[in-house]
Amino acid sequence: MPARIDFDKVTVLFNDRPALDHVTLSIPHGQHAAVVGPNGAGKSTLFKVLVGLVTPNSGSVKIHAQPLGNEMYCVSYVPQREEVDLRFPITVEETIMMGRYRHYGLLKAPDRKDHNMVKNAMERLNITRLAKRSLNELSGGQLQRVFLARAIAQEPHILLMDEPFNGVDLSTQEATMQLLAELKDQDVTVLVSTHDLNMAASKFESIILLKKRLIAYGTPAEVMKRENLSAAFGEQLFLLDGLDGLAVIDHCCPPETTGEEAR
Ligand code: ADP
Repeated sequence: MPARIDFDKVTVLFNDRPALDHVTLSIPHGQHAAVVGPNGAGKSTLFKVLVGLVTPNSGSVKIHAQPLGNEMYCVSYVPQREEVDLRFPITVEETIMMGRYRHYGLLKAPDRKDHNMVKNAMERLNITRLAKRSLNELSGGQLQRVFLARAIAQEPHILLMDEPFNGVDLSTQEATMQLLAELKDQDVTVLVSTHDLNMAASKFESIILLKKRLIAYGTPAEVMKRENLSAAFGEQLFLLDGLDGLAVIDHCCPPETTGEEAR
């Protein structure tokens, strides 16, 4: 089966410094991959390229073998909560309906199917009771569920989640994992960035290890090798040996690299 997301030598520069450096990567349709790497490794930038928020300086990105722009409607992005502007007065229900926008289109009103999709998405994430609440009244976990509901209402082919397990309660983490299992059955390609290497290795079929460059991409056993992990995280790792090549990390959040190191 042809790869459904193709990065070919993609470079993104911010102030002349690379956030992504010649990243070449092909992710097959329906795969669930964790995206891991230290702070500043380019994980969010990778996602933003896929949703058209950041344009690469060089290289090409294709979805379903088409250049970006043609197929971006099918990509849904759940950003980190810190990146969401909560000052905008909008309810939970309206936020989720925004995920239906491409289905009902400009100048048209949502129809019965759109309303049903929103209702189902709220039920799946157990947030129906919050429908009329404003986003700025919600807890972190509730907000996360709203953005997950919006993402599934969108009926994406590709779902990108930026650090969905950070700072949310256990039941939201479980709801997120449950949703991922359902999306696997529906053949939705999923990329999830996470700092939790144990979770990446135990819950995902593949891992994309980034440090601006692509350090490794493959199954957890292929990627979680000492040489790959030390190339990504340097000396800040605490590795437990003797696990058949699978490293377990107790601490994995080194400070962002300095400008000199980043080059
Ligand atoms: P990660 O998600 O792995 O923490 P990011 O993709 O957010 O990494 O950032 C990669 C690098 O690009 C970092 O050095 C970050 O400071 C820089 N960067 C990201 N977005 C911007 C921006 N809008 N302007 C300038 N620098 C940016």
